[in-house]
Amino acid sequence: MRSQSENERLYAELLVRVGVNVQKGQTLVLACPVECAEFAHRLVEEAYKAGAREVVMRWIDERVSRLTLDMADDAVFDEFPEWGKAFFNGYSKDGAAFLSIVASDPEIMKGADPKRMSRQVKARSSALEYFRNRQMSNQNSWCVGSVPSIAWARKVFPGKPDADAMALLWSSIFSAVRVTEDDPVHAWRDHQAALNKRLDFLNTKQFSELRYSNALGTELSVKLPKDHLWFGGGDPHPNGYVFVANMPTEEVFTMPHSAGANGKVVSSMPLSHNGNLINKFWFQFKDGLVVDYGAEEGLSVLKELMETDGGARRLGEVALVPHDSPISNQRILFYNTLFDENASCHFALGKAYPTCVKGGPDMSKEELAAAGANDSLVHVDFMVGSPDLSIDGVDASGAVTPVFRAGNFVI
Ligand code: ZN
Ligand code: ZN
Repeated sequence: MRSQSENERLYAELLVRVGVNVQKGQTLVLACPVECAEFAHRLVEEAYKAGAREVVMRWIDERVSRLTLDMADDAVFDEFPEWGKAFFNGYSKDGAAFLSIVASDPEIMKGADPKRMSRQVKARSSALEYFRNRQMSNQNSWCVGSVPSIAWARKVFPGKPDADAMALLWSSIFSAVRVTEDDPVHAWRDHQAALNKRLDFLNTKQFSELRYSNALGTELSVKLPKDHLWFGGGDPHPNGYVFVANMPTEEVFTMPHSAGANGKVVSSMPLSHNGNLINKFWFQFKDGLVVDYGAEEGLSVLKELMETDGGARRLGEVALVPHDSPISNQRILFYNTLFDENASCHFALGKAYPTCVKGGPDMSKEELAAAGANDSLVHVDFMVGSPDLSIDGVDASGAVTPVFRAGNFVI
């Protein structure tokens, strides 16, 4: 068995070389929580070893973020500073790669003013539209990964001493990202090849509709736009290399038609959204629009999300994830979207990835809308997969092909 330190080094290498795949001479913008500084130092070293021109650190401190939310002047929440714009939009324009480490306390924002939070998200998204558009159409390579923090480990393994909870979370993450394999980089290449097979099948089939059904109460039909493209396991950068935007990743995903969802969908996992939990929620769709919704927990946070803009009430992503995977087989609720979304079929409310329709990255806003791509300032994944989930694909001729049975792929 490898030591903790060696596993951490291998994981850092994996994030740098397979995840964000930093290129020789490229600038890397690295975001990391202050309490995970030791791991950030490993990432910086691995990035320079891989040939990075410069690693630009962006330290995150969510306790400061919480204090700001509670105590700063109210006008602050409708602003985004010019220097922040220059930072993100500037590095994006210069072709930098962006690696972000997330280790959030799932409830750091519990009880914070949801209106202030959504105003803050809106101001930021509007100011960074250029950066976001480039990121969502693969013009900049990017990757999100996670390492444990004490508050997060306590939430996932309640009742355990801190040191045990941290060790358990580290080893759960190492298994989920295949660091425990003999040769992690090789294991990722195999994994990517397996995902590619599914992509080929789905891209060739060109289903016009997917029909979901399970015992939780989901009975949903989702239309897919003409010339939609499925992706997964890696994103192609225009310069010809592949990066993996989420590590772990088990999903294959595309865009639904923004006017194409009909029926009811019920969540299968709690959603940790901006430091708040939303639990046991559902949406009723009519022609793509959420016409009714509810939640047993976190309804006010959900309401703020839905009211962000028109596009926040429509779907922007449909993702298929087998119930049987290195993440879901651990049967752990991570309270972290990066892991939970890769343990379960999911949708996203909000902005669609323009790459998911043929020619999308070169289309204007109007052309994308006409092609069926949803637009919004938000993109929030929520989980719907269950051990009994069935999904059928319907093609243009009306023929039905089983895609999922009992929570797993049958294609
Ligand atoms: Zn997804
Ligand atoms: Zn998503």
